[in-house]
Amino acid sequence: MKIKIISHKCDSTTTFLIALVIIQLFVSVQMHAQTNSNAKANTNAPNLIIITTDGFRWQEVFNGMNFDIANQSKFNHGDSSYIYKKYGANTISERQKLLMPFFWNTVTSQGQLYGNRNKENKVDVANPYWFSYPGYNEIFTGYPDTAINSNEYPPNPHSNVLAFLNKQKPYQGKVVAFGAWDAYDRILNESVSGFPVINGFESFSSILKDATTDLLSSLLKDSYKPFKEVECLDVFTHYQAMHYLKTKQPKAMYISYGETDEWAHHGNYSNYLDAVHQVDEWIGDIWNWAQTTPGYKDNTYILVTTDHGRGFGNDWTDHGADVKGASSIWFALLGPDVKKIGPLGEQTKDQQLFQKQLAATISKLIGYPFTAEHPVGPSIY
Ligand SMILES: [Zn+2]
Repeated sequence: MKIKIISHKCDSTTTFLIALVIIQLFVSVQMHAQTNSNAKANTNAPNLIIITTDGFRWQEVFNGMNFDIANQSKFNHGDSSYIYKKYGANTISERQKLLMPFFWNTVTSQGQLYGNRNKENKVDVANPYWFSYPGYNEIFTGYPDTAINSNEYPPNPHSNVLAFLNKQKPYQGKVVAFGAWDAYDRILNESVSGFPVINGFESFSSILKDATTDLLSSLLKDSYKPFKEVECLDVFTHYQAMHYLKTKQPKAMYISYGETDEWAHHGNYSNYLDAVHQVDEWIGDIWNWAQTTPGYKDNTYILVTTDHGRGFGNDWTDHGADVKGASSIWFALLGPDVKKIGPLGEQTKDQQLFQKQLAATISKLIGYPFTAEHPVGPSIY
């Protein structure tokens, strides 16, 4: 901006006015610089994407397909050749890569993978129930409150890490959750938390209006509903979330897949493995999109985990406090600074970690440590 110097005779009033204009200009330039630096800081705050696949066992994460389960006709539904051809191999390392190639090629080289009990790296839920609502509550609030003892529990009274981030400047209005199961409105207490939670068969046209949203919403409404009205197929949750991610570019996001748990309850091992194989590919798509998108590249953390484990052997279909082993879970971390926690790759340190530590850990990683009115499990580093 140029200042025109008045050439005619200056009286004292004119001198005063010129001085005032110069001071105002100086203040305005300073404020502008301040706003710019804030905007830059906001943009540079790391992005966070939390992903869960419901009730997926650590046993398959680390060993791939289980032959004892795959061999039984009640679990392979008379078609063992399909799963053998797709996921069967002699060595553990081959089976890992056949089932979850993104995990075993990218996560184990660029990130960290926790929970292989065969190597004494143990992760468990701290809540005593070993089913979904208590598990998701523990992930997001860091507080395994024993009062939360039912999947029908009313809206969660405890604040969660996403609601906390939604109050931090860089994340305000840039938080969203998509979930296949229709319980997340309650688990994340949408009406109190202040960010949108799209779950089950709910259309997301309330938060994004365009032709793709309309098409996805129509497909979802008319889709095959093997789990009735309670939970949609993962493919809808995924494409809604991806469309929102690419279009609105949220800074903190949750995506919850549900088929792994559903097909396990159905005793359908092929569908259970296919579901996680697909989720693994989608996580790869999300990571690769992030690594090729300005603002997300080298600035995005991803946490992948599950709400609970399942039983051993033929009890693989089930979970709950009466099912031995169902408290055992796993988690994976990706992001620029996960090395701060420890070495990259599959973790082999003899340790015991808990689900209640995840909220503190990921919020510390992005530089906005979660605090709440309730006790929060400590960060793992
Ligand atoms: Zn279940």
